[in-house]
Amino acid sequence: MTLKVGVIGTGMIGQDHIRRLTKVLSGVEVVGVTDIDQARAAAAAPEGAEVFATPSALISSEKVQAVIICSWGPAHEEQLLACIAAGKPVFCEKPLVTSEAAALRVMEAEVAFGRRLVQVGFMRRFDADYRRLKAVIDGGELGAPLMFHSVHRNASVPEGLYTSEMPLNDTLVHDADISRWLLSDEVAGVEVRVPRRSARGGELRDPVFVLLHMASGALVDVEISVNIAYGYDIRGEVSCEAGVAALPNRPATVISDSDGIRQAIPKDWRERFIEAYDQEFREWIVAASQGTATGPSIWDGYAATLVADAALRAVASGGLESINMIAKPGLYGPPTAIAAQ
Ligand code: NAP
Repeated sequence: MTLKVGVIGTGMIGQDHIRRLTKVLSGVEVVGVTDIDQARAAAAAPEGAEVFATPSALISSEKVQAVIICSWGPAHEEQLLACIAAGKPVFCEKPLVTSEAAALRVMEAEVAFGRRLVQVGFMRRFDADYRRLKAVIDGGELGAPLMFHSVHRNASVPEGLYTSEMPLNDTLVHDADISRWLLSDEVAGVEVRVPRRSARGGELRDPVFVLLHMASGALVDVEISVNIAYGYDIRGEVSCEAGVAALPNRPATVISDSDGIRQAIPKDWRERFIEAYDQEFREWIVAASQGTATGPSIWDGYAATLVADAALRAVASGGLESINMIAKPGLYGPPTAIAAQ
């Protein structure tokens, strides 16, 4: 069976996902696209796909069995609610939504529907290196995880478009989600420190150093640097009671030549996580074909939203900002198992 999908938002990542859906993956066909910019949508539409005038026309079309949302964050809530009302599986790029209230509204709608329909685009969970790291931690041979050091470095960000809030409410969500997932834990509080600014970022608050206080007592430190110049560099190391487990640096190929021994650095997130995005969609296509979703859920999107909000409060207050989550609805599994302190 071929899953017929519609894509909302044909900007940078929408175009990249259309490429993988049409050229890399099987069992899926892009039958419709839409974008505020109709010319951009038409240019991105694969041969034979319909260009819909609005997201609601795409969502309600009988041609479209499942939806992929790649519009900007503030538009996600309305589009998600329309997909849930139509009972259509939906892959939504991060952020799920941009406020706690909106996250609760989409959660309420999905819980009322009674089955998971929404998968959130936290692609790191599908990365083979992160999966191996999680298998080691879950295996228990190193004992309980105590600290996770997460490094998130971008070569550059679009000048004028990327604001000082965005390291905390846009970039950090990936580190927050992967920390919760790797450690099987929830974030209970957030602190933010702002060191000497990089002259490369102008007025931008860059870098930032974030401390996530996990409910188990484990600590996660996150370096976010968004003008690091040399490439896109993602690192992670978990210190456990009886050993340490770390991601390899990627790509793992070591080059030896007359300049010495070196490893290339990915240019950007598309290059570093290309296989993770492919795998994320492989698993989504299987789940969506069965009328449901897998992997990161609305609950996970809600948790990341709370972390972003707390981080913004923390940078303003200079203190520890706590997070209070609602009780986890049964649709999203049992309460997160958190190791005893
Ligand atoms: P982008 O290049 O600006 O593309 C977004 C597209 O959606 C634009 O063409 C935009 O049109 C259109 N759009 C905005 N609101 C819309 C609406 N209400 N209905 C239909 N189309 C709408 O942004 P992007 O970089 O592709 O990012 C898109 C989403 O993916 C964001 O939520 C972003 O956070 C996420 N993302 C995730 C990752 C990841 O690692 N998982 C990486 C990159 C981006 P206009 O330009 O005319 O507004």
